Amino acid sequence: MRLSRFFLPILKENPREAEIVSHRLMLRAGMIRQQSAGIFSLLPLGLKVLGKVNTIIREEQNRAGAVEILMPTIQSADLWRESGRYDDYGKEMLRIKDRHERDMLYGPTNEEMVTDIFRSYVRSYKDLPLNLYHIQWKFRDEVRPRFGVMRGREFLMKDAYSFDLDYEGARAAYNRMFVAYLRTFERMGMKAIPMRADTGPIGGDLSHEFIILAETGESEVFCHADFMSMSAPGADVDFTNDAEIAGIVDQWTTPYAATDEMHDEAAWDALPESARMNARGIEVGHIFHFGTKYSEPMGAKVTGPDGKEHPVSMGSYGIGPTRVVAAIIEASHDENGIIWPDAVAPFNLSVINMKPGNEACDAASEKLYGELTAAGLDVLYDDTDRSAGQKFATHDLIGIPVQLIAGPRGVAAGEVEVKNRRTGEREMMTIDAAIARFG
Ligand code: ATP
Ligand code: MG
Ligand code: MG
Ligand code: MG
Repeated sequence: MRLSRFFLPILKENPREAEIVSHRLMLRAGMIRQQSAGIFSLLPLGLKVLGKVNTIIREEQNRAGAVEILMPTIQSADLWRESGRYDDYGKEMLRIKDRHERDMLYGPTNEEMVTDIFRSYVRSYKDLPLNLYHIQWKFRDEVRPRFGVMRGREFLMKDAYSFDLDYEGARAAYNRMFVAYLRTFERMGMKAIPMRADTGPIGGDLSHEFIILAETGESEVFCHADFMSMSAPGADVDFTNDAEIAGIVDQWTTPYAATDEMHDEAAWDALPESARMNARGIEVGHIFHFGTKYSEPMGAKVTGPDGKEHPVSMGSYGIGPTRVVAAIIEASHDENGIIWPDAVAPFNLSVINMKPGNEACDAASEKLYGELTAAGLDVLYDDTDRSAGQKFATHDLIGIPVQLIAGPRGVAAGEVEVKNRRTGEREMMTIDAAIARFG
């Protein structure tokens, strides 16, 4: 992409309405535009990052055996009357009437709709396990939308729903999503810690929130320092092996970790002082087993091996990709701007032509841009005639991991400067060496 042809509306001033760094940087880097309270347009840079986040989520959902569908945003109130939630949900639900005066709503979540799909087609335990997910916009009329896309009213969610014959099956399905989430967040370059979360009237211990530690997080969390040195299983993890997956879940649920609602003072006090991490956290994902809460009232049943009908045992598994983008920035930035982890960076590298119009600079930059693009990299080519200072500030602000800087002096010697955004390290290398290194 040539920067001169791109749409990157950088803001020079710090937007006054932005209280936290990710919101400020997303506005300044031209990633989002607020359209009304808690409702945003994604501009090209923001959309590119969101796309990378969604791709990682999809790959890991698919690897764990979930199957993608796409349900609509607008739902009929009748489905929610079947589960009893139409009246319970309260003001967070945006209720709409169509021209025939029928009650509709903009979905805040999809348990009812996916249960309806399931009951319409699946009859036998032989078709289980089944996990259906989609990545779709949700609307929740939050009391206090704030912090940009961190707490929006219209926001993107990946929500998966598992269906099993019994609790044992549901537990295995829960474990698969648990491990998929470990891999998902680690691939995005983040440390997300699974913490015991409230199960409400459902009870049991199958509810975990995946939390990123950050000062601006809205929840207080308590966890063991051991999490900092643990890493997610590799891509060769076998999701068809229930025992292997359960073993990983055991390992990740052994050190203490709880949100404030679930906090256990006695267990906490028993930990050595040096192991106690009491911090603020951002909920980026949440997995939850709720058994027959929807299948029972909505009649989602399968025939079991005993020939009898059983309401299916279910769980739901959410990630907020738009919130994730902001959370990554909270965890990875400096005073000059965003520092994208490689896996979610909107571009793999920038080629910065310091003197467009100068024949040697143009030739070197075009060569880098052309060959690195041909090698499959997503390259942002700064061919604008802005000042050196403006260019450096822009590329630092938008956080591209590597900058290749083609200036007249270096190019005359056949070299470009390579700058690593995260470490700030700079080195000179020949143009061919740069192509060989990154291409
Ligand atoms: P919160 O506690 O922050 O209000 P929640 O517990 O209500 O979130 P869930 O119903 O568990 O959210 O939804 C699954 C995921 O969707 C959350 O873990 C989060 O990543 C995302 N999410 C929820 N609400 C919002 C929102 N208002 N804006 C952006 N993302 C959200
Ligand atoms: Mg909420
Ligand atoms: Mg929550
Ligand atoms: Mg939650």
